[in-house]
Formats: sequence, structure tokens, C-alpha cells
Amino acid sequence: MAIAIVLSGGSGSRMNSDVAKQYMLLKGKEILYYSLKTFQDSDRISDIILVARPEDMDYCKSNIVEKYGFTKVKRIVAGGKERYNSVYNGLCAIEEISTDIKNEVVMIHDGARPFVTNSMIEQSIENVIFGSACTVGVPVKDTIKIVCEINGEIYSKETPDRNTLYQIQTPQTFRYELIRLGYEKMLEDTKHNITDDTMIVEQYMGQDCKVIMGSYENIKITTPEDLDFAEKIVEKFL
Ligand code: C5P
Repeated sequence: MAIAIVLSGGSGSRMNSDVAKQYMLLKGKEILYYSLKTFQDSDRISDIILVARPEDMDYCKSNIVEKYGFTKVKRIVAGGKERYNSVYNGLCAIEEISTDIKNEVVMIHDGARPFVTNSMIEQSIENVIFGSACTVGVPVKDTIKIVCEINGEIYSKETPDRNTLYQIQTPQTFRYELIRLGYEKMLEDTKHNITDDTMIVEQYMGQDCKVIMGSYENIKITTPEDLDFAEKIVEKFL
């Protein structure tokens, strides 16, 4: 079993919408609904911690958690300025609800990724039982370049071998003690550029994370084009 932290603390500024992207509708239901529903229905998830912007916490409680009967949501906690601040607040809340913190497994998921599947949840937890950190991801399809900027123009500089590149998604799953200690170390470090949670384990705990197959449909909804693609995928999830 694992506790899921579902992140909904971002503003979604790249969506150019008045409504935060996680509350925009996909076939009549909020984007955030879909991943919460998958975690609620999974028999491998014991509890959910939902992280929301402070101004959205009441809305989340009545319009998402109570409305859809997401009984596994044990806490709604306030997010922070950056994604890693929101994750840290979620990790701290686990201490309040866990009955066996030493053996706890935590799964961190972007609420802006509606199409997480039960199979991703199950395989991630299995891998953390035998290892201690696991993420889902997919091999990149395009050639990726390292670029540099010269006088405001972008130039290609280097081409990493495509066979070594994966596009990393969420959920990302960890033994609680490992990720919590990694976060404590990261927060003491004044210079960091953290964009996901496996980076914490790599950089601050010196440990590799297992990468298992995600899905090209497990998209993060960031810009209006993503919403068009999501409309096509969502039929399978209803
Ligand atoms: O901004 P980005 O698209 O990387 O956000 C990924 C996820 O992290 C989203 O689900 C977003 O709501 C969440 N987030 C958060 N707190 C922040 C920034 C982002 O919970 N301060």
C-alpha cells in the first residue's frame, strides 16, 4: 500500500485561462478529478493527500472531494511557491496520518496528469518494495539537442544519444524515509534547480531511481493544445 500526494498547487499560467488548469473541465469533469478517481479506486492506495493553492482549498473540499466522494483524501494541505515546496508540505502531512511511518511508501503525482493508470500505480509500488525509488517515463521520440544562446539566437551545441534519453512523468514513488531525508537536504542547499522528485534522490541521496514504462497518453496538461489531445484520450477513461 502507498499514500498518494496529488499536487494541485500550481497556477497553470501557461494555459491562458481564468480558471486554474486543474479545475478546467474535460468531458464535464475537472482535470483533477481523473487522477483522484484512479487513486481512490486503486486497492494499492490507502490514503490521499491533496495539495492545493491556499485560495482553492475550500473549493477542492466541497467541489471535488465531497462532490465525488473521494473518501481516501485525508488531508487537503496548502501548496507553496514552487512545486517542490508543495511536495514538501504534502510529505510533512504524511506524518499526521501514517500509522507506520518507517515503512511508508509515498507516490507523488501531478494533478495536471489525468491519465495515470492502475497498472502504473501497481508496478511502481512493486518496484519500490524491491528497490526504493521508481518513476514512470517514456523513451523520447525526437532528437534532443543541448543548445546555447548567442546574441539572443539559439544554436545547437551537442546531441545526446537518443537511446539514453527518457521523458520522465509522474507518478514517482519512494520509500518515505528516503524522499523525506532527500528533501530536508535539498532545502538546506541554497542553490538548486529542482523540477521533479527523482532529482532529489539522485542529487541528495546519491541513488539511482528505477524507470518503468509510462505512457505517451500520460500527458501533463500545460498549454491549450494539450487540452485538445486530452479530449481525445479521455473517452477511454470514462
Ligand atoms: O508547473 P508544472 O506544470 O510543472 O506543475 C506540475 C504539477 O505540480 C501540477 O499538478 C501543479 O498543480 C503542481 N504544482 C504545485 N505547486 C506549485 C507548482 C506546481 O502543486 N507551486
